[in-house]
Amino acid sequence: MRVALLTVGDEILAGDTVNTNAAWLGRELTESGATVERMTTVPDRVADIARLVSEYRAAYDAVVVTGGLGPTHDDVTMEAVAAAFGTDLAPDSEARQWLRERGYTDAELAPATTHLPERAELLRNPEGVAPGCVIDAVYVLPGVPTEMKAMFELVRGEFDGDRLHVETVETAEPESWLLDRIASVREAFDVTVGSYPGETVRLKLQGTDPEEVAAAAEWLRQRVDPPE
Ligand code: ATP
Ligand code: MG
Repeated sequence: MRVALLTVGDEILAGDTVNTNAAWLGRELTESGATVERMTTVPDRVADIARLVSEYRAAYDAVVVTGGLGPTHDDVTMEAVAAAFGTDLAPDSEARQWLRERGYTDAELAPATTHLPERAELLRNPEGVAPGCVIDAVYVLPGVPTEMKAMFELVRGEFDGDRLHVETVETAEPESWLLDRIASVREAFDVTVGSYPGETVRLKLQGTDPEEVAAAAEWLRQRVDPPE
């Protein structure tokens, strides 16, 4: 399953907030067997969010959007998602009911809090107030990381694919020396290889068959210089 991630928020673009949501979702989705092909951050602006939701839902199997929920003036994600589907926002009685059950009175909640795009299915927020939703394969989650993670657990199963197994091999050799062995391991085993230079070079091997990945890692370990 090919997935695009859209994170919403002026504060991310300004560098005030580090986009840990994208990193966390990228890792979790990849481990679940999905392939994340886009991570984009857009401002809290309806037209930008709506345009990318439309584009990504046409191009990918699923789109995960985080941030910009809730009732404040800069929370425009729901409105934008509705626009991307050519629908309006409508009060969601299930969302209101859920918040009432959790002790919120109608007076405490701004009306827009429980407005979702028409046709969307409610995702309850186990850790906060703002509801999320899913409409077709567009998943709309809150920006607050604890809330986003808790809500993602409700839908994680929908991203299941062949789980990827990962092995890492570290070496003291510079990346440019390793090209022949990277080519050989890719040829001999059914794995993908990522190369991440730092103080040492980290070679990341991934595949769906754990034994194949382990064998590829062992093959490489025997052929590269270990770190000091
Ligand atoms: P709320 O219901 O609290 O308004 P929200 O879904 O509207 O939540 P935002 O208003 O976009 O979320 O962000 C709330 C807070 O969550 C931000 O101040 C920021 O600290 C954090 N946050 C938002 N997006 C991200 C992100 N992509 N990565 C990490 N933290 C984030
Ligand atoms: Mg907000």
